[in-house]
Formats: sequence, structure tokens, C-alpha cells
Amino acid sequence: MNKIRISQIKLPVAYTEQDLKKAAARALRIPVAQITSLTVCRRSIDARKKPDIRYIFTVDVTVSADVRALLKKHRSADISQAEEVPYQYPVPGSETLTQRPVIAGCGPAGLFCGLLLARCGYRPLILERGEDVDARTATVEAFWKTGTLKEQSNVQFGEGGAGTFSDGKLNTMVKDHAGRNRFVLETFVKAGASPDILYVNKPHIGTDVLRTVVKNIRREIESLGGEVRFGQQVTDFAVKNGRLSAVIVNGTEELECSVCVLAIGHSARDTFALLEKKQIPMLAKAFAVGLRIEHPQEMINLSQYGQGYPQQLPAADYKLTGRLKNGRGVYSFCMCPGGYVVNASSEKEALAVNGMSYRARDGRNANSAIVVTVTPEDYPEKGVLGGVQFQRSLERMAYRAGGGSVPVQLFEDFCAHRAGSGFGDVLPSIKGAYSLANLRDSLPGFLGDSLEEGVRLFDSKIRGFARGDALFSGVESRTSSPVRILRGDDFTSPGLPGLYPCGEGAGYAGGITSAAMDGMKCAEAIIQKYRRAATS
Ligand code: FAD
Repeated sequence: MNKIRISQIKLPVAYTEQDLKKAAARALRIPVAQITSLTVCRRSIDARKKPDIRYIFTVDVTVSADVRALLKKHRSADISQAEEVPYQYPVPGSETLTQRPVIAGCGPAGLFCGLLLARCGYRPLILERGEDVDARTATVEAFWKTGTLKEQSNVQFGEGGAGTFSDGKLNTMVKDHAGRNRFVLETFVKAGASPDILYVNKPHIGTDVLRTVVKNIRREIESLGGEVRFGQQVTDFAVKNGRLSAVIVNGTEELECSVCVLAIGHSARDTFALLEKKQIPMLAKAFAVGLRIEHPQEMINLSQYGQGYPQQLPAADYKLTGRLKNGRGVYSFCMCPGGYVVNASSEKEALAVNGMSYRARDGRNANSAIVVTVTPEDYPEKGVLGGVQFQRSLERMAYRAGGGSVPVQLFEDFCAHRAGSGFGDVLPSIKGAYSLANLRDSLPGFLGDSLEEGVRLFDSKIRGFARGDALFSGVESRTSSPVRILRGDDFTSPGLPGLYPCGEGAGYAGGITSAAMDGMKCAEAIIQKYRRAATS
């Protein structure tokens, strides 16, 4: 009981640590010298009085004064006893696990599932269809340069999963009373991310740093006796006595196991098809589709921070939502300040885009996806994989529209249903080849109309959002999984005991942090049920 938490400390952007200490002392009405340590727990930006932008802090302090007396004296919601909820490692169960647990997929879900199992002594085996992060980086960069796609290793597949070539935003809406979120962030910091992700309200790693971070997490798993094998796709399951007995790898090798965590992400369409064939219970689910839009970052900075804003501020972001006349919701998704649109395809002759940024977020453009929600009623084909087929048809359309390059259209041309003939002031910041195209007439009518209305709606929130030379590129179709792979309270599939559907692909997460947290939950379920195997 020696730490005090103080919130709502407001300071100018050019603050120093001493300013923060002084402000904390002022709040407690004690001399600065009595503050013996100070940790920033949270820092957010208050831009309500532009351009007088302030940071708002929550800090924990230790003091050389009577803490009880101070807390008694300050009966304020902004001053309280600091309480930390450290993550509690699960207690092993009693059933015997005869083989190492297998994890299919080395994205955030598989990686954190593997890390927790490894830290608890279970020596997991992670099978990843794609390449290790170094080889994968070379493959992806070659794809952006030449257009030659490797279907097993790309922006969606390979070490680190879909998040590796990403913006690396780490915020999540998932409620967390168990300390998993903190565990994930602390693990990232230990593996090389900036410590500021522990306290800024919208933490961001950046793709350049993420590549090192995922490699370092893998190394920790390996150092604890776990193993990660690349170029290894789970292509089938063997079943004995009604439960999982083995996974088949690359169509040939049979690996005996009684536990397999299926952390395959939202793009493993062939694995979804396998699951359907095996009658693993799944449902088609809603997701969102749309196009990515680019604006000058400076336009967004001016809108969010005001004229003459302090230059120390990070590239500004935005989050926009609205309701359309047709009743659908429209919103911005995965906004990347100072970032790049990336060709994020994983199938031949089909094109999907997404956004990424480097740690510095110093690119000239801001981009985000403008998307509308689509539900199984919208999918032309019915059945569990109707959403997958809908995604694929949109991606094939985008591929055709751009002749294999990322199709790009100025917003004014989009509204006029024409391909256009050149750019205005906004020049594309795109990883991969691009070409001007008539995206509007390639999209289903409701989608094109919704996006035009949505962008015009958002112009009332960010001036210039609907500028004629804003750039659309498409198609943004991999926003979340088009299926949910059902699981019970014990985290296993009701159709195949031993199979643990996990992460975003299974429909239990949306984003890096929530996928990582779901990976931890699956690991916890395994640990709480089983004693670790005596041998491998
Ligand atoms: P994935 O990361 O998709 O990992 C699944 C892994 O399983 C893949 O590596 C795949 O190769 C492997 N796999 C698939 N099938 C098999 C199989 N049968 N056998 C073996 N291996 C298999 N989220 C954020 O929170 N912030 C962001 O800034 C952000 N930016 C993004 C930018 C881009 C370009 C992309 C593509 C995504 C972005 N996302 C972002 C989304 C985020 O990456 C995902 O939410 C997250 O990676 C999901 O984690 P996952 O582990 O569930 O699945």
C-alpha cells in the first residue's frame, strides 16, 4: 500500500519529467522532494482547445510520506491507491498429455499461446505454413516489386501472422480483468518494442520494430524447449475414438497429438474448407468490406490539432463512424497515420489491400479503410463459406480492375463513375504497383453508394475528407474473419475434442492484442486441463 495513483494531470506537450513530478506533488499538496518514484501509467492527448494541446497523465507515485493520511486527506476520484493486477500463471491440471501440444499458425494468437505454454513447461510445437520473418520480408518486398505472389508466404501468411506487415496498433476493446493485456504489452517491450506502449492510450509498434519483436518471442519459445517449424501447413486431422489423434502436415507427414490449437487467422481459406469438409461446427459471420482512402497527413494533423499545433505531437489519427440512409453502419478501420497502403493479397488473381506504418509514422499520407458491415444475407452464395466466397469475388474484381496492380481511383472520379486520368495533390503511398481504375463500377452497387455517402458524411467531421483528389484503393476485404469456428466453455470444438479454435480466424479476436490475448486463453485452458508431457 505504498503507491498512489493520480489521474487527470494535464501538461503542455513539451513537458519534462520534472514538470510531471511537480504536477504530481501539487496534486498531493506535498513537496516535490517527497516523491521518491513516478511511473506513467497512461498518457493521452487532449485536443479540445486547439491549438493548446495538452497531454493528460495518470501516474503512480511512491512517496516518503504517510500514504494512508494522504489518501484520507484527498477524497477525490483522481487520487487513489494504486492497484496492479499482475497476470497469474495458470495452475496445471491432472489429465496426462502424452504429446507436445501443437499450434497451427504463428500469428499473435499462436505466438502467445506458444509462449505461455512454453513458459509453463509444455514445450509446444508451432507449425506455420509461411516463412520465418526474415525470409518472409524478402518475399513480401519482392512481391511488391515484381507482383510475383507466393501463396504460402505473403502479407497474410508467415511468422508473426497478418500483423507483421502492419501498423502495429495495439489498442483493444476487450475487457481485461486478468492482466493479459498488460502481459502482452510487457512481452512486446521485453522483445524490443518501445516502453511507451505500456502507457500511451493508443500504443503502436510499427512494422519495422514488429519484425524484430516476433523473432525475439520465437527465440524465447525455443529457448524454453518449444519449437517453431516453417513451411509446415496443417492440411488434415486424424481422429481416433472420436477425438483428435494427429495432424497431417503438407499432405504427407502425420504428427501424433491430442491437442491442436487452430490459430490460423482469417485468410486460411483452404483450412476453412477443410474444416467444413470435416464437419467441424462453424457459422458464416458478418464482417466489413470497403476501400482504403488516402489523405495528406498534414490535413489530418491540422484537423485534429489545429493551426500552429506543437510539432512534438505524433502524426494524428482519427476514428469515424456514421449511419447511412440505407441503415448500414459505415466506419473507418485500421487507420494508419503516416503510413502506406499495402497490397496484402494471398491468392493468385485476387487483390486485397490493407494499411501499415513504420514506427516513425512519418509517411506523407494518412490512410484508413472506409468500410460497411456485410452480413450473411448479403453473400450471394449461402452456406458456411458464403462470406469467404464473397470476399474472393470482390478481390478478383479488384485484381481485374487494376490489371493485377492495386486499383486506385480519385474520390471525385469514384463519384463520377470514371477511371480518371491523373492524380491531384494526393499522391499514392502504396507498397506494390498501382494503376488508375474504375473501382466504383466494379463494386456491388450498394457498396459503392455506401462508401460515397460515408466519405461525404465524414467530411463534416474532418474538413477535406471528401476532397476530390483523396485516393481510394481496393479492396479492403480482410477486416475480420468471415466465419466463426465454434468452441465450448472448455475452448475446444464441439465437433472434435482436442481441437482448440483460437484467435481472429476462429472469430474470437479482432486485432493483434486481442488475438494474442485469445491465444493466452487457449493456452490457459490447455494448462488447466493437462499435466505437461513427461517427454516430447
Ligand atoms: P494471423 O495473424 O492471421 O496468423 C495466422 C497464421 O496462421 C498465419 O501466419 C498463417 O500463415 C498461419 N496458418 C494459416 N493456416 C495454417 C495452417 N493450416 N497450418 C499452419 N499455419 C497456418 N491489427 C491490429 O491490431 N493493429 C494493426 O495495426 C493491424 N494492422 C494490420 C495491417 C495489415 C496489413 C494486416 C494484414 C492486418 C492488420 N491487423 C492489425 C490485423 C491483425 O494482423 C490480425 O488481427 C492478427 O494478426 C490476427 O492474429 P491471429 O494470430 O489470429 O491470425
